[in-house]
Amino acid sequence: MKKCSRCKCEKENNVFVIETNKKDGRKELCNECFIQLKQKRSEKRKEKLKTPAGRTAWDQYIILRREFRHTEKGKIKEKQYRENSKHKQQKYHQVYYQNNTEHIKARSIQWTKDNPEKKKQQRNKQNKKRQANIIHNFHDRIRKRLSRVLNEIGLKKESRTQHILGYSAQELFSHLAKYINQLCEDCNLILIKKENCCIDHIIPIGCAKTKEDVIRLNQLENLRLICKSCNLLKVTYDLRLIKGNK
Ligand SMILES: [Zn+2]
Ligand SMILES: [Zn+2]
Repeated sequence: MKKCSRCKCEKENNVFVIETNKKDGRKELCNECFIQLKQKRSEKRKEKLKTPAGRTAWDQYIILRREFRHTEKGKIKEKQYRENSKHKQQKYHQVYYQNNTEHIKARSIQWTKDNPEKKKQQRNKQNKKRQANIIHNFHDRIRKRLSRVLNEIGLKKESRTQHILGYSAQELFSHLAKYINQLCEDCNLILIKKENCCIDHIIPIGCAKTKEDVIRLNQLENLRLICKSCNLLKVTYDLRLIKGNK
């Protein structure tokens, strides 16, 4: 038991503020009093900052800088700074992740366990964002189709789509982008837009029987965009063709 110098109450030893210099490792001030004192001090300081007389040169500088950040010029400058230091920040995060991988993973698993609802919301939000991005959208369609086709011929998709097919999402998009805002190649009637297009395999992917076939038919030369109705027609026609061949 120990007496607090401020509130004059006798309390247990472990509720006093830690200070390693003292003999018993604690101050003669209890935690409650310490928090009250801190609040009082910060309020006093805030009060002081309101009038110009109470500010030091440093305070003045901080206030000016804060105000500058909210102006148009300041916003542009901050954006520029972020763009310029993007690489630096990425490197910093990479190094931090490498040094603390286990700790970060354990923390994220624990967080997921504690907040299942929040995690669900987060995932939905991410999915929506991903689908709205046309580059990811095209890539996702190819990815899903690829794993389905591989399943159909009795194989499993074991590595990432990029590694299997040898082109990135960006390359896929820049190949397909030339079909957007053009008339559909098959019917010559419908203007192709981001919302109504389908990725078509010129030689139908349904013919593939081995993994090599699948990779060959998924190369960029075999891919183009056509309208939804043409795609539907082609799918039924292709099915009949493939079934006839068998
Ligand atoms: Zn006290
Ligand atoms: Zn068409």
